Amino acid sequence: MISENTRFHWYIGPVCDRLPAASLRQLAQEAARARGDGGNEAADEVIAYVSAHQPGALTAQLRALWDIRPNRHSYYASWPWRAADDAEVARLLEVAGDPSGPDAGFAVRCLQETRRPEVLARLPAGHGQLAGVGFGRDGDGGLRRLHATAVWHLAFPQEILDQWASRNPLRRRQPSWPVNAGSGRQHLTSGFLDRTCPACGHRLHRLLRLDPVPAGLGITSRARVEFAWCPLCGTFPEAGYARHTQDGTPEPLAHRPRSDRYREPGPAEDWFIPQTPVELVRLDERWRRQDWALSNDRENLHRAGGDTDRRRDRGEHHAEQHRKAEAVDYPRHHVARLVVGA
Ligand SMILES: [Zn+2]
Repeated sequence: MISENTRFHWYIGPVCDRLPAASLRQLAQEAARARGDGGNEAADEVIAYVSAHQPGALTAQLRALWDIRPNRHSYYASWPWRAADDAEVARLLEVAGDPSGPDAGFAVRCLQETRRPEVLARLPAGHGQLAGVGFGRDGDGGLRRLHATAVWHLAFPQEILDQWASRNPLRRRQPSWPVNAGSGRQHLTSGFLDRTCPACGHRLHRLLRLDPVPAGLGITSRARVEFAWCPLCGTFPEAGYARHTQDGTPEPLAHRPRSDRYREPGPAEDWFIPQTPVELVRLDERWRRQDWALSNDRENLHRAGGDTDRRRDRGEHHAEQHRKAEAVDYPRHHVARLVVGA
């Protein structure tokens, strides 16, 4: 599959989605071997997928991958090191310890991806870099995790899933899309709030209403909470609603007026699904970490808790470029980003 189709790889993600863990591990090893023989885009694709969804399958290959450096120019080049073992961490710390060395910067990125507090504590990471891997610093300088490690995926009613799958067949029976059978606690997504955006006056769109807030999500100061965003201002910091009153009503994080640069030519509301009941479902370990770009519009990225998506932190460039696509099936990342330290 890998060695015979080195330049033809659209099918890799959908196949990997459906492979059991043991088979995915085997495929990862084959990919690492094939990549050692030279350029191979199919192998790169497998390595990227596995680095997001089952990084432990690459632990034994890391020393070889260090020399090969697959996906070298992508932001996920360092992700295979998410499951680096102690020996590899020690080696990376040594490389990172000589700031003038050619690989020091990459070694730091790899070490950050381990997301292990005792490793991060040994790095000269700035605030932004720490936040990118889900940590911040307390007043006394100690490391603090910014989000719940557990992830809940939103389960939508079958008719909504069918509607989306008709537009994107690769979503059909893709395992990260649980169905809301109506038997569990119902929360609410989409629809509009009876509130307007302070920056532009547009009515606010609901991301998710948690009523009550489930235990384990890391939200302890509010019994209910509602997340919202402005379809015109998008996801920029000036339009983020990550602050909440005592009764859980969203309040803007800041009141800076938005720039006209981001004004959409027309409202995106036509694309939104109506107000819809959803359940929160725990999926297996494979879906704990996901990436917006690597998911390639197949995976369910409507989720609460878990790691932040580094790509979103890269800001305006990508956000502007992809905002329209997000609106198609309702803005899906915001929940993951907003349910952080609330
Ligand atoms: Zn607005």
